[in-house]
Amino acid sequence: MVAHGSGVPSAFVADEHVRAAAFETAWARALACTRCPALVASRSQVVVGAGAAAAEVLIVGDAPGAAEDAGGLPLAGRAARLLDRLLEEVGVAPADVFATTLVKCRPPGNRDPSPGEVANCSEHLLAQVELVRPVVVVALGGFVTKLLRGDPAPIRARRGREEARTLGSHPFWLLPAFHPAAALYAPALTEQLRADLARLPELVARGRPEAEAPPAEPEPEVATAPGQLELF
Ligand code: SF4
Repeated sequence: MVAHGSGVPSAFVADEHVRAAAFETAWARALACTRCPALVASRSQVVVGAGAAAAEVLIVGDAPGAAEDAGGLPLAGRAARLLDRLLEEVGVAPADVFATTLVKCRPPGNRDPSPGEVANCSEHLLAQVELVRPVVVVALGGFVTKLLRGDPAPIRARRGREEARTLGSHPFWLLPAFHPAAALYAPALTEQLRADLARLPELVARGRPEAEAPPAEPEPEVATAPGQLELF
């Protein structure tokens, strides 16, 4: 996060204050959200996210499970510990990470979120991307990867391969990786997850990709520009 100490240009300080206020507003809106009746009935709380509000790395899982719902964190238990350990090994500090999920409420029976629920919750994810302004978004697992890429290609074909993407007005590198919950039971996947996370320092150092320029004169039914997420 940007420090508010001496030597920080006042414009940056003001920008950070505005960002912090907007972040709190977006957080409160998510906490109060009741847009998905089935998930409101199955959740014990809304799991908005955790981590640094101005992180360079945004990690996106699918949806809270039972442990995440109980603890209020987007990733909990052994999977969370494995991810934390691997991030530490590759040199990514907790202050550089914000974690969240596509859908912020636990689906009943831990089923996949429905397309309507993902669409409902897109407002909250979009706000987080716009406010955190990450350099890299890590898509954890096949479900998230397919949705964030707008493409059914399997995670095995995409993992570890960064792509320039844009969500809202914010460009970033999208990096698919296996979900740590899957890696827990397959040492080979753990090694692949470690290798993919090891790309993070290099991608962060590279900086954000160029934003896609909007078409000068949009025509009706013109296809979305390459790199723009067609999530919802
Ligand atoms: S999943 Fe998202 S959109 Fe649906 S009720 Fe929870 S916070 Fe709201």
